[in-house]
Order: sequence, then structure tokens, then C-alpha cells
Amino acid sequence: MTTSNKRDLIAAIPTGLFIGGQWVEAQSGKRCDVIDPATEDVIASIADGGAEDAERAIEVAAAVQDSWARTAPRARSEILRRAYEQMMERQDELASIITAEMGKPLAEARGEVAYAAEFFRWFSEEAVRIGGDATVSGDGRTRIIVSKAPVGPCVLVTPWNFPLAMGTRKIGPAIAAGCTMVFKPAHLTPLSSFALVEILREAGLPDGVLNVVCSSDPGSVVEPWMRSGKARKVSFTGSTAVGVRLLEQASQHIMRSSMELGGNAPFIVFDDADVDAAVDGLMIAKLRNMGEACTAANRIFVQRNVADEFARRLTERMSALVVGDGIDPATQIGPLIEPKAVEKVISLVSDAVRRGARILCGGQAPEGRGYYFPPTVLVDVDPESELMSTEIFGPVAAVIAFDDECDAIRLANDTQWGLVGYAFTQDVDRAFRLQEAIEVGMLGINTGLVSNPAAPFGGVKESGLGREGGRTGIEEFLEVRYLALPRSIPANV
Ligand code: NAD
Repeated sequence: MTTSNKRDLIAAIPTGLFIGGQWVEAQSGKRCDVIDPATEDVIASIADGGAEDAERAIEVAAAVQDSWARTAPRARSEILRRAYEQMMERQDELASIITAEMGKPLAEARGEVAYAAEFFRWFSEEAVRIGGDATVSGDGRTRIIVSKAPVGPCVLVTPWNFPLAMGTRKIGPAIAAGCTMVFKPAHLTPLSSFALVEILREAGLPDGVLNVVCSSDPGSVVEPWMRSGKARKVSFTGSTAVGVRLLEQASQHIMRSSMELGGNAPFIVFDDADVDAAVDGLMIAKLRNMGEACTAANRIFVQRNVADEFARRLTERMSALVVGDGIDPATQIGPLIEPKAVEKVISLVSDAVRRGARILCGGQAPEGRGYYFPPTVLVDVDPESELMSTEIFGPVAAVIAFDDECDAIRLANDTQWGLVGYAFTQDVDRAFRLQEAIEVGMLGINTGLVSNPAAPFGGVKESGLGREGGRTGIEEFLEVRYLALPRSIPANV
């Protein structure tokens, strides 16, 4: 893609707030810039929403809820199906938008579009399969009829790191269930969400079902939604700190809450593992999204007798990666999202080195434009280092040796988070033991990738509440209603 093609593509995306089916300016008239992290260029200016805009959006969502809930499941399903098809038809275009606003290499951005679109296909299939239950009470005197209803207007808030997929993972099940939405994407990466709005509109989504307000002051938009008493559910993906704040706000009106929060994933390599397969797995688990993923392997534990060999092969692979602007097809590692992110990675690496870690490759941010940090391997990392208890969110692999299975499990569980873990072993019995022992919502055995629209994504401990995707994904947007009917015993004929 040439620079002028990229400019034309971005110029065609609406940049307002989307309320009641119209693109409008913020009432304050304010706008904020969107920056390409590879070049530091301003690529767009978007409407910067505030409290008055938020209030209008939630009023519209609440007003439309009843009529939307009455729409036939098949109609909702077909909107999602058409949107899925459009997304796949426009995969390259959407990928270029993601790369321009977020920095990930184009090939990964294409992967994100396919992943994001698949949530729409999956939930188009779920929309027509919303189940219920009919049973009889223990004493035989009551018929118990259980049905499901949309929970009501939903507040959706997403992060910048998967700007398209984090949105479709919430919008898909909300549409399938019959919920209206107020949606705040991250202001660092709003453009792919705006492009998605246009796709949903063309697919036939009625006005007012999805309302989008972006803001450089997120609390000024989200808090009025939470306090309004009109929203019945919040679905949030982002940091644990913001999740805690939203749960406090949700408690005021007892809102249903789904929280996809931070992680601190252990990646464990046992000495019976195929070391090359483990390195392959880590290249995905560590470097997907430049390490800026909640699922990123944050703490790499390798059994002592294979630790040197593993680190050597990993260093060979990591140091060969091409770092650059993601729009160049040769690029394998793009920039981080913003200067603050680079500063954080520099500080975590310096802390680890101060505590005795050795750098096998990378380790220093380059000079020049763009928010880059190179793929870095650290060994002999002290378990007390800050990067063991903080999401690194960068391409830094911190390797620590362990002695036996008990040691590995103890290290893996020594964190308040529990989103995902990875383990490489040839021992099937051990794989099942690990699933029982490691405190995570998702465990990958001999794979560095667990994200799958057909699977329940989510964490335990401080990594969150609820699940997205899979059969459970739609349940988060439905509430259970039960009807009691007195029952007379049929006569004996
Ligand atoms: P963040 O918590 O700073 O922001 C997430 C969203 O919340 C953004 O839209 C932001 O504008 C909004 N926000 C920020 N402050 C707010 C406030 N006071 N009130 C309401 N909304 C507010 O997180 P981030 O830096 O955008 O994303 C990175 C974090 O997200 C990491 O912790 C990562 O692990 C997590 N994450 C989790 C998952 C998951 O599925 N578990 C997926 C992706 C990212």
C-alpha cells in the first residue's frame, strides 16, 4: 500500500460520534488527533466526546431497546452474517486501517480482521439458537418454564491493542441477543471501529442500536453511562485498574458485568518438550501484537537442564526479526502504541538488569521516529524483578529456570492474575495435572495461541469475570426468566 492510498483510505472513514444512526460532532466541538505510532504522523482528527454526548447516546440506546428486542432472531442473525461477509471482503482495507492506527504488521492485522469477523459469523449462528428449558418441580405440582431475554442496553468499552476484534467480540453477542449498545472504543485507535460502524449500517443494523462515542477523557463518557440507570450491563476489556473502577460504578445500579482484564501469563517448558516447537509457540505467545496482548507470555519458565539451549534457539529467532513500519510487508515487529509504552519497557528491562539479568539480544530503544523497541531476550532474571509482576506489553522475553513440576506450578500461580497459561510437554498425564493446578481461565498445551471465537475466552482471579466467545459468549447478554405454572397430574387412561 502506498502512502497516498493509505491517506485516501483513512480520509474516507467518518470521524464523528455515531448517535441514533447519524454521524455528529461533539457538543463541545472538540476534536482529538489519531497518531500513526510508526511515523508519529497525525493521520486523523476525530470528534472528542464528553458527558452531554454520552447522555444523548444512552437515551437513544434505551429508547430503541424494546423494538430491537422484538426483532426476529433470524433478522439479527442475518445482519451479523452480512457484516461478516463485508469484513472479509474488505479484509485488506480494514487491516491497513488497523496497522496505520495501532502499528501491528499488516499480516497480523489481516489475521485480526479474520478473527474479528469470525465473532460475527459465530454469533450470527448463536442468534437463532437461544435456548430455554422446561421441567417439572420435584413435587410434581409446578411446570417450570425457563426462557432467555436480552439483558437490555449495554455499555461496551474496549482497548487499543486489538482495535477491531475487541469490539466485535462484544457487539456480535449483543446484536445476537437483542441488546442495544453504547460503545466507547479507545481514542488511540478509533478508526477501525468507525469503519465497522459503516459496515454494520450497510448490513442493515437499525438506527440507535449501536451508538459510538469516543473520547480522550474516557471517564467523562463512561461514567454518565454507568450512573444513568438506563444501562443494564457493562462489558469491559482493558486494565484491571479501570475494571475495578467500573465495577464500583456498576454496583450503584447492580449492572451485569463482564470484565476482560489484564494478564501475567506463565509460559512453561518442561525438559520432555520438543524444544523447537516450544520456541515456535513462544514466538507467537510473546510476539503477537509486539507483545502488547493480555495473552502475551509474560514469565517464561524453562526446566533448568534445557534452559540454556532454549534461550540460545530463542535468541537466534528473536534477533533475526525485521522491525519497522507495519505497512511494509517485510516487517515482522511494528512499533509500540505510544512513547509511554516504550518508556515502561525500558524501565522494566533496566530494573531486571540491575537485579542481575543478562541481555542476549535487543535491550535498547533505537533513535529516530516511531515508538520502537527491539525483540529482547533476558536470562538469569531475578523472580523479584518488576517485569514478573507487571504486564511487560512489549517484545521482551524474560527467561527463568525452574527445577521440577511443583516449582513450575508454584511460580506460575504466584500472581494475582489468571487469564492464560502455556505449557510445553509430551506427557499427557502432566498436561491434565497442569490444567487442574494452574490458576488460569485458559491453558494452551503445546500451543502459543488460545484465542478462538468458538472458545470461552476469559480469566480467573483479577483477570476478570465472565467469558467472551464460545457457547457462553451470548449468555453474558441474556437474562434468565422463569415462568411457574401449576401442574395437575394427567389422568391415568
Ligand atoms: P485501559 O484500561 O487503560 O483502557 C481500556 C479502555 O478503557 C479504553 O477504551 C480506555 O479509554 C477506557 N478507560 C480508561 N480509563 C477509563 C475510565 N476512568 N473510565 C472508563 N473507561 C476508561 O487499558 P489499555 O491500555 O487500553 O489496554 C491494555 C490493557 O487491556 C491491558 O491490561 C491488557 O491486558 C488488557 N486487555 C485485556 C484483554 C482480555 O481479553 N482480557 C484483551 C485485550 C487487552
